[in-house]
Amino acid sequence: MFEYIKFYFKQFKSSKFIRKGKCLQCGKCCRNILFYIGDEPVKDENQFEKMKQWDKRYYGFNISGKDENGALLFTCNKLCNDNKCGVYFMRGLVCRNYPKPASKFLINGGKPIEGCGFYFEPDKNFKSYLNKT
Ligand code: SF4
Ligand code: SF4
Repeated sequence: MFEYIKFYFKQFKSSKFIRKGKCLQCGKCCRNILFYIGDEPVKDENQFEKMKQWDKRYYGFNISGKDENGALLFTCNKLCNDNKCGVYFMRGLVCRNYPKPASKFLINGGKPIEGCGFYFEPDKNFKSYLNKT
């Protein structure tokens, strides 16, 4: 029992990332969106057509290109020409929280999209992490 308490206490006390910086309103995160099925990004246009049948919300996105790994990139159709969100006050939680240090995000290098005004720093420096007993 004590081991469980110790485990969860360590989780709670473990190093975390803090988001710093600010949004530059470049709109890059709204036009370089990846969708995943399981752990795999969507790479096939037919797959995306099927996704739209499963969930009508996918109609809100258009294919705008491919990344270096062949994954499809999507642009939200609520993005305006001035790079502002057309539904800013009604935007979803994913948009409100971007960029967020979720586990997949950190495994992929913990970096927001290139040029984003946000960045992440650990809440503790490396030395204090090593000194932890
Ligand atoms: S990529 Fe970063 S700076 Fe650009 S609009 Fe998105 S959150 Fe703002
Ligand atoms: S709803 Fe707004 S903030 Fe969210 S992806 Fe679309 S344009 Fe960007």
